[in-house]
Amino acid sequence: MQKIVEYSGMNNRLSPATVELLIRARSRGKSLRQLGQMFNKSHESIRQLLAKYNPPQVTLLPEERIAANLGYPSRWLARLRKEGIINPIRPGRFWLYSEEQVRQIPPLIAETRKCEQCGKPCPPGSHKICGECSQYKRKHPYLFLSPEQKASQRERCRVWRRANPERLKEIRSSAYT
Ligand SMILES: [Zn+2]
Repeated sequence: MQKIVEYSGMNNRLSPATVELLIRARSRGKSLRQLGQMFNKSHESIRQLLAKYNPPQVTLLPEERIAANLGYPSRWLARLRKEGIINPIRPGRFWLYSEEQVRQIPPLIAETRKCEQCGKPCPPGSHKICGECSQYKRKHPYLFLSPEQKASQRERCRVWRRANPERLKEIRSSAYT
């Protein structure tokens, strides 16, 4: 009984369920003004309510907005999350990050991917080697083989040359004309 009086009486009191709704709507990027319209309150009283019930250290931000703020494609964030490097929560439709997690993102993005070939940083979600190196590798595959692979490649060539003397002659003559 007392609870009902408490929540319905004062203009700045809301039921726990409504507070939760408010915080969730805010974390999805609604403005104070939009929230005011939704909850039939002034944007100032919404600001006060959020300050009271949702102190800054537990503010949760949706992935899309963080990506936009940081200027990353959101797939980079999705990649960090899928690899378990960062662990946001998903209470509803959206992945939500704490401010602390948001702070970790830029250094993680910088660290997680280095090209295996040249060591240059690559964005998460890219391949193990950078575009430049993979292009070079495609052009010069032989350079990237291990000594064993090179030996077996040479062996395959020897076998092929013995088996295809005519074709070899053709190739050699066309290469020099
Ligand atoms: Zn590279």
